[in-house]
Amino acid sequence: MHKKLLFSFLAIAISSYSTFAQQPKKPNSSEIYESIQKLNFLGSVLYVAAHPDDENTRLISYMSNHLKARTAYLSLTRGDGGQNLIGPEIRELLGVIRTQELLTARRIDGGEQRFTRANDFGYSKHPDETLEIWNKDEVLSDVVLAIRQFQPDVIINRFDHRSPGSTHGHHTSSAMLSVEAFDLANNASVYPEQLKTVSPWQPKRQFFNTSWWFYGSQDAFEKADKTNLLSIDTGVYFPLNGLSNPEIAALSRSQHKSQGFGSSGSRGEQMEYIELINGSLPTDKTNIFDGIDTSWNRIKGGKAIGDILYQVEKDYDFSNPSSSIPKLVEAYTLIQDLENEHWKTIKSEEIKNIIANCAGLFLEVVANSNHATANSKVPLSIEMINRSDANIMFTGLQLKDSGRKKRLYKRFPLKDNIEENLKDTILISSRQLPTTPYWLTKKGTLGMYKVEDKALIGHPETPREYTVTFKLEINQIPIEFTRPIVYKTNDPVKGEVYKPFEVIPEASAKVSEKVIIFENDQQKDIEVVVKSGKDNLEGYVQIAHPQDWNIYPEKQKVSIANSGQEQTLVFTVVPPKNQSEGLITPMVHVGDQVFTRELIEIDYDHIPFQTVLLPSESKIVRLDIKKRGENIAYIEGAGDVVPESLQQIGYNVVILKPEDINTETLSRFDAVVVGIRAYNTVENLKYKQQELFDYVANGGNMIVQYNTSRGLKTNNLAPYKLQLFRDRVTDEFAEVTFLSPEHPLLNYPNKITTKDFEGWTQERGLYFPNEWANEFTPLLSMHDKGETAKEGSLLVAKHGKGYYIYTGLSFFREFPAGVSGAYRLFANMLSIGKEDISTEESLKN
Ligand SMILES: [Zn+2]
Repeated sequence: MHKKLLFSFLAIAISSYSTFAQQPKKPNSSEIYESIQKLNFLGSVLYVAAHPDDENTRLISYMSNHLKARTAYLSLTRGDGGQNLIGPEIRELLGVIRTQELLTARRIDGGEQRFTRANDFGYSKHPDETLEIWNKDEVLSDVVLAIRQFQPDVIINRFDHRSPGSTHGHHTSSAMLSVEAFDLANNASVYPEQLKTVSPWQPKRQFFNTSWWFYGSQDAFEKADKTNLLSIDTGVYFPLNGLSNPEIAALSRSQHKSQGFGSSGSRGEQMEYIELINGSLPTDKTNIFDGIDTSWNRIKGGKAIGDILYQVEKDYDFSNPSSSIPKLVEAYTLIQDLENEHWKTIKSEEIKNIIANCAGLFLEVVANSNHATANSKVPLSIEMINRSDANIMFTGLQLKDSGRKKRLYKRFPLKDNIEENLKDTILISSRQLPTTPYWLTKKGTLGMYKVEDKALIGHPETPREYTVTFKLEINQIPIEFTRPIVYKTNDPVKGEVYKPFEVIPEASAKVSEKVIIFENDQQKDIEVVVKSGKDNLEGYVQIAHPQDWNIYPEKQKVSIANSGQEQTLVFTVVPPKNQSEGLITPMVHVGDQVFTRELIEIDYDHIPFQTVLLPSESKIVRLDIKKRGENIAYIEGAGDVVPESLQQIGYNVVILKPEDINTETLSRFDAVVVGIRAYNTVENLKYKQQELFDYVANGGNMIVQYNTSRGLKTNNLAPYKLQLFRDRVTDEFAEVTFLSPEHPLLNYPNKITTKDFEGWTQERGLYFPNEWANEFTPLLSMHDKGETAKEGSLLVAKHGKGYYIYTGLSFFREFPAGVSGAYRLFANMLSIGKEDISTEESLKN
């Protein structure tokens, strides 16, 4: 039990390094040589931070490629709270992308990747708040587990554990938990349940990866006491790759494409500083491993292995790597006798890969499709080829599929450069669950993923269920090689494209829109898209809905001929008379099964193809909303879905380009709304400010949403003085008080109450101004715990005959989440000054 679990974790970690990507890795002679150097280094470093992209890839690449150390990055979260620059995925789907971006980055810089169950819930100002929203004990337990599994000699924290409040609360928390875990990991009475699969472990040293930035200025850093600092030149050059270490690090960092962290490498000296915070200071202040035995001698029985393998490294023939095979096989045999399970598992995997690579051994199992359903048979094409004079005998295959007899294969030799092809089939068990990221299968909390199978905690991704093991004899020694089943195809543009093989449900369904707003009691049609995971799907669809809503017809038949095809059904939704909201879920009935999940495919070139199953839910909202005006001009900024949202509540929205802004065009609109960060991102908007202000003076209505205080392209943001600041209220539950309760904006045409600030998501708002002219009336006051009141979230000024409104409230987040109060408040902003048009109705209220 103990051995098996440990093995499966490490094997996954290592195989993900080579075969999970689109293409299997095919190392060249220099790469094989480097992997032999790594085989001969028995030291480990764990780098700890909070998010994908926090990690210092220069240092990770230096440790992995220059020191040859086993190097891992423990990212406490998967980065769900970030913004996505390359596609529509946000939240948990963005977390899936950023997980894969980290894995792709590690395949380049040579590190491994780990996580905890902590969820990136968005910006947090202080570690106290972070550790309250995360389950501190669970995250600490996961950090301790990572240390016990990985057994690092050295831990390096990206952030300073002593400076709460100076950076993102997740950052400081990652360092604080790492420091706490340094002392706890070796204490057998702490998290004793972990000790069924791992042993206590004491790392030798812990550092903080500092830089001048943490000292405030380069000057302050120059003057600082550096007694406890190690300085490392990470600018080394690798002639075998033709690249400098910073160039490799830049290639790795550039994989964070969803964050837009493309990076260019540099050449020459590149200093990194790490400050000792635990353990003893090394004598050699350039070497983190100084005084730690990182040779084969560190483990019992290791010396004999080292004697062989150091010679293999010395005698390596770059033009004929296969000449190393006999000695490697000899060392492999000795490694199997090691008592130290940890190193035995790691080094067995490493040396097996090296032996295969030295022999040019290619082993692959390709399915006829990238997906199958439970209880189906999948034909497999198997390719084996040895491209060396090594003595290799094929003795059998082991397919991981339940309930079938062992296959019998004849033994035959794999001769130099002769391809062998076999056909087989694998049976997918009727109980097999579909492939999906394991941390998303159960509903977690705001701060934590829920992982029921404890053996999966820490894994970067769900281990591949279906694999094939090739049983070979190399120089008469039995060695097994396990490969995941893959799918590949040829794309006329991209060439060979690999996809992982996955199990999907027989049916999945979604409502086309995630939020459907009903601004009155009129019914709306919705589209339900059903996707089949098998041929000849027959069934019917019903929609689960809240009691006060109606959906008809009650059920509709679905009939799909081919796996992968979709059918769209139209249902009609009848909202209730009064304000109400709830969730609807399509349910596909097939035989006696009901499928209620949505299958999401994530397909980008830089990461492996992903399928994610999530509960299929759409929010329906019946608003109690009144509005004035009809035609809205929207000036786009960094990108948001506010125009679509305003259309949903019945406005006629036109996107207005800066070059089309003029008095004549503006006169056609009842209001002009400026998209988020427009004054940070749209260069020529500044030339149109005067025309916009004139439009307001003539009775128009202008609403400007948040901009960041830094990087504004104009100082002329408003007709009156307005100073943006970094004030933000990150607590979406923060109490809101009304500074001018009688102001029309809070009363007309919708009476705004504190109830309208319920159900907000992620935050209240950001970059609130902190100084404004007397012409502005601040309407709302709010603040995060322990902070002073922030009054700049919603400012309105009468200018001439019209109104100018500046707001840092996060409407761009609340609208897509269907938050009714946000719609009602925005409708008031659009309606201000239009009271007289419909005095009659306002009198009625
Ligand atoms: Zn971060």
